[in-house]
Amino acid sequence: MSETDTQTSNFIRDIVIADREAGLHDGRVQTRFPPEPNGYLHIGHSKSICLNFGLAEEFGGKCNLRFDDTNPEKEETEYVESIKADVRWLGFTWARECYASDYFQQLYDWAEKLIEEDKAYVCDLNAEQTREYRGTLTEPGKPSPFRDRSVKENLELFRAMRAGEFEDGARTLRAKIDMASPNLNLRDPVLYRIKRATHHRTGDAWPIYPSYDYTHGQSDSLENITHSICTLEFETHKPLYNWFISELGIFPSKQYEFARLNLNYTVMSKRKLLHLVKEGHVSGWDDPRMPTISGARRRGVPPLAFRRFCETIGVTKFNGMTDIALFEHTMRDVLNSRSPRRMAVLNPLKVTLTNYPEGKVEVVDAINNPEDESAGSRRIPFGRTLYIDQDDFMEDAPKKFFRLKLGGEVRLRNAYVIKCEEVIKDESGTPIELKCTVDFDTLGANPVGRKVKGVIHWVSAAHAVKAEVRLYDRLFSVEKPDADKERNFLEFLNPESLQVIEGMLEPELGKDAVTALEKAASGGQVPLREGQHPHDGPMRPFYASDLQVQFERVGYFCLDPDSTPQKLVFNRTVALKDSWAKRK
Ligand code: ATP
Ligand code: MG
Repeated sequence: MSETDTQTSNFIRDIVIADREAGLHDGRVQTRFPPEPNGYLHIGHSKSICLNFGLAEEFGGKCNLRFDDTNPEKEETEYVESIKADVRWLGFTWARECYASDYFQQLYDWAEKLIEEDKAYVCDLNAEQTREYRGTLTEPGKPSPFRDRSVKENLELFRAMRAGEFEDGARTLRAKIDMASPNLNLRDPVLYRIKRATHHRTGDAWPIYPSYDYTHGQSDSLENITHSICTLEFETHKPLYNWFISELGIFPSKQYEFARLNLNYTVMSKRKLLHLVKEGHVSGWDDPRMPTISGARRRGVPPLAFRRFCETIGVTKFNGMTDIALFEHTMRDVLNSRSPRRMAVLNPLKVTLTNYPEGKVEVVDAINNPEDESAGSRRIPFGRTLYIDQDDFMEDAPKKFFRLKLGGEVRLRNAYVIKCEEVIKDESGTPIELKCTVDFDTLGANPVGRKVKGVIHWVSAAHAVKAEVRLYDRLFSVEKPDADKERNFLEFLNPESLQVIEGMLEPELGKDAVTALEKAASGGQVPLREGQHPHDGPMRPFYASDLQVQFERVGYFCLDPDSTPQKLVFNRTVALKDSWAKRK
């Protein structure tokens, strides 16, 4: 079974199957992913991406990437580009790249049609008055005093709006539906607002902009979308979605809603993410602590982990909270099977092997990945002076401490058993060097007559490559940073979400890194292998963070794009074990 054959069922998929069986639209499946380019995509979006593109892939259909760009003040080309890069990185290919703004003229023409049929009118109420007139869930609305304008007057006024003759916000175009409807969205919703804002694509061509509701369904219809999938908050907008399509007599796209993905220990609204970026709480949208797709990429999360995760959580109508630990578990799972093992010492403690000849260098063999025979092996230099991790030594250790202690023995991974004979300390009593002896009979063999339980990692001091290592942790220290409306979510930032240290890497990793940097800089591409259908084999850019390794006994790490061949930087993607599980 290939990596993607595990297709979990979801209710929207069941609807698609039923529609195909019924011969609807000749069995054609056309979906779209419709982000607003007002920020970078986050993990929540990946659920919608996997669903929309996944259904199209599975049923031989198509999925468009549609930019829902009707709020010029918040939208930017930078966001458009980042969204395209992220979708591509996740391994999906869109059939068409569309923009709601490409439909502005068509939407305008349809608005005139609605006016001509007396189904829309120009209203002079301001935003606050419009809200007052709309009523509440328990009270019906009142008709706007401008509701009965003649078709002729409405048409003139609407054209004048379009020609830029009125102040921003002075008038709106509204649909004439039902001010007493129990559904507030049907109480004469606004179709157009006057707003002089420069649009990232249409510039200053339009002083009026269509509303989300007026734009979305018609855009779907123009693209012959068969299944328009959105999150639950749009459920109450569906009657309006259908009203436009039926009044305009256009292609009958249908809307289906599912529960959005909510993750604990983070926030996922673009507004809040923008705040974190603007206020400098993170280094940018792609800070590895951000719940953005670009942040996850930079953190070393493989695209396949996103797909697996989305399959695991499934698609329901139940709005719940998903534990980030599940995503982290998925990352470990994917990374375990594919990451070469490398040794890296993050808190170096010098070890001198007193019975090992000065200047002698041996080379030991090490298997790259016990989970993957095809990954082969590498050779690691071994010498008289080594580094081990400070945590792997304790002078006076409890019985269960199977690492190195004074007078005790431990195996150096892929090499010899050594014994600690002496500890050298600084004035404060902190060990700064260990004098040890090697048992030369233990290379690839068990020591005779005794058991040595512990195995620790190490690097040869003469060959070690220094690197900055960024230990990332969760950005927030509480499960629901934005649950308490009285308090600012920033209060819950985890002060320990980033720790920067200097580590010592085995030399092979230094070589891996330089090669990866060259590949990323030269615009190198990697084939989209992960969990993809063989027929869509586009290439995607190679990112520095595609160099993903397991630092043995520590965690999964990747190369950060801040690296240069002279100064390497590694990011911790995820530790080998979940340290939060016991904290809770
Ligand atoms: P945000 O509140 O973060 O800005 P949004 O819904 O406004 O999110 P859009 O750019 O409009 O963001 O979203 C594009 C698509 O992604 C929409 O179909 C939306 O329903 C979906 N989506 C957004 N957030 C999530 C989420 N957390 N889980 C699943 N789908 C999501
Ligand atoms: Mg939105």
